[in-house]
Amino acid sequence: MSQSPAYKRVLLKVSGEALMGSRDYGLDNATCRRIAEDVKGVVELGVQVCLVIGGGNIFRGISGAASGMDRAQADSMGMLATVMNALAMQSALEKQGVSTRVQSAIPMSSVCEPFIRRRAERHMEKGRVVVFAAGTGNPFFTTDTAAALRAAEMGCDALLKGTQVDGVYAADPRKNPDAERYITLTYLDMLARDLAVMDAAAISLARENKLPIIVFNIHEPGAFTAVMKGEGRFTTVI
Ligand code: UDP
Repeated sequence: MSQSPAYKRVLLKVSGEALMGSRDYGLDNATCRRIAEDVKGVVELGVQVCLVIGGGNIFRGISGAASGMDRAQADSMGMLATVMNALAMQSALEKQGVSTRVQSAIPMSSVCEPFIRRRAERHMEKGRVVVFAAGTGNPFFTTDTAAALRAAEMGCDALLKGTQVDGVYAADPRKNPDAERYITLTYLDMLARDLAVMDAAAISLARENKLPIIVFNIHEPGAFTAVMKGEGRFTTVI
């Protein structure tokens, strides 16, 4: 298989939970560092990389709403959580020598840049990693949808979804070791089978924009680079 990357520009979605490592809450520095190393590996292949980071390791609006908060207010807190994670990731990436900018969908100009698509474009052309924070900036959405939205806006060749396992399975492989792993799936399969890898809004947006979704294991060192070269284990949704 070819060693040169098949992609010019990609967006990687990392859930907040992926940054927890083995902790129950918050950020694990060693995990952030390892993910940053993987991103650096892909940047070094010459691929332009942007990231969307979730916030589930700190706060989810739906849990706040379940405990009695106003949903929109709770979602604002969830979006702020994603900004904390984005800043942590920026720090981890810059420690690796990867020039990084954070752009937030909720402007907070003393902390990071506001989301300006054309400015993000320019950063990426210069080889900087751009981390998109605060999701879509709207309540009732998820960072998966924000990832599909930003990937479409930035003209990415693919949306990479880093998960706990190496692709999409017919059943949870951690509970059922015999579960089948799909090599490719269609967007409609994902929607019809309700495979719980990404929410329906994100899948629909990717489908409308013909944006391939590649699901791989974010916890396996080097997997992101391997996927970019068309190697390793992953599921492609097209
Ligand atoms: N959120 C939101 N609008 C968005 C993206 C996120 O309101 O466009 C809020 C929502 O409360 C969500 C939280 O931010 O629960 C964290 O995002 P998400 O649950 O997608 O994080 P992940 O599961 O990827 O860690």
